[in-house]
Amino acid sequence: MTCLDCKKELSYLDHKSAMDLLGLELCPQHRNRMEKLIRLKKTPKEAIQLYYGLKDAGVNPMLEWWDGKKSVDIAISRVKLNIEVDTEYNAITHKQAINDLEEAMHSFKNGFTTIRIPHVLIKYYLKETVNNILGIMEGLRANIKVL
Ligand SMILES: [Zn+2]
Repeated sequence: MTCLDCKKELSYLDHKSAMDLLGLELCPQHRNRMEKLIRLKKTPKEAIQLYYGLKDAGVNPMLEWWDGKKSVDIAISRVKLNIEVDTEYNAITHKQAINDLEEAMHSFKNGFTTIRIPHVLIKYYLKETVNNILGIMEGLRANIKVL
């Protein structure tokens, strides 16, 4: 058992408390860092799981990236892709929906593509979600080349 982030050896207790909190193998230092994000920025647990899933696939994502206006759950700057993880997909109000659309519009104007992913997708289909994001990145990279 080693930390997903720094590869440090994990004790049974460290492993257990990280698995209980995040479902991820993290050392106390990295677990604390994630706990702090959850507390201060309300980062969804699934965003952190997706972050490590993308890292594992060789992507270089950034967690809680500040785009000048708001904090984006995950950003992949090389292809200007923002990923927001929705935790209350079923309970979306029209006010939230128009906010989301406006944010997406501002991002597009800055050359960024925003995709929104329901948290249940990460919970049940992490691998497929990562694979689809890899495909989106490929498409974006091809478009950047054309420009
Ligand atoms: Zn670590």
